[in-house]
Amino acid sequence: MGFNIFGELKVIWDHYRFRVIKRTRPLHVHTEALYKDTVWKRVQDFVNSGKSAIWYCLTPVNYDYIKVELGCHLSKEEYEKTIIERYRWLAAHGQKIQLHVHMRVLPQLYETQQESRAFQEEKLSWAVEWMKKHGFLMSELVYGWWSEDENSRFLAKKHNLALQNRFEHYYIHDYDFLLNPNPI
Ligand SMILES: [Zn+2]
Repeated sequence: MGFNIFGELKVIWDHYRFRVIKRTRPLHVHTEALYKDTVWKRVQDFVNSGKSAIWYCLTPVNYDYIKVELGCHLSKEEYEKTIIERYRWLAAHGQKIQLHVHMRVLPQLYETQQESRAFQEEKLSWAVEWMKKHGFLMSELVYGWWSEDENSRFLAKKHNLALQNRFEHYYIHDYDFLLNPNPI
């Protein structure tokens, strides 16, 4: 086996991510599967053990994504009701609720700048309004798949949401609690 510079860099990066960032920065959780009771139980255990995280939460604007990617069986109404209750529980237990929105997997999938702006504007505005309507005040945002372009950055600023950098935080998904109930 030869020397692989990318492999070596990955080892160093993982070491940094897991040892340094994990210990010094708040845990970021991309929150997508809280509607599932198995995930929710693990998350409650985590919070009840006195730990905390910042929860970047999906809204029903991404219901189709949840259905296809995570196999959600709930109707849109049931899904919405469940996540509102659970996000409120987290907030009431001292957890920070922030925003997570999935747009398109690659910005290159927008055919024009106008299409990119219109598509993202509609989704982000809807998600922000939904969060506010249900009493969640946010100041931070993570886009799904870290997919960003000029328009998504513009829109984050327009809504006064600070975009989070993937390299500055240790992040997991809420469903990762099924694999590891104690991520920190
Ligand atoms: Zn996501």
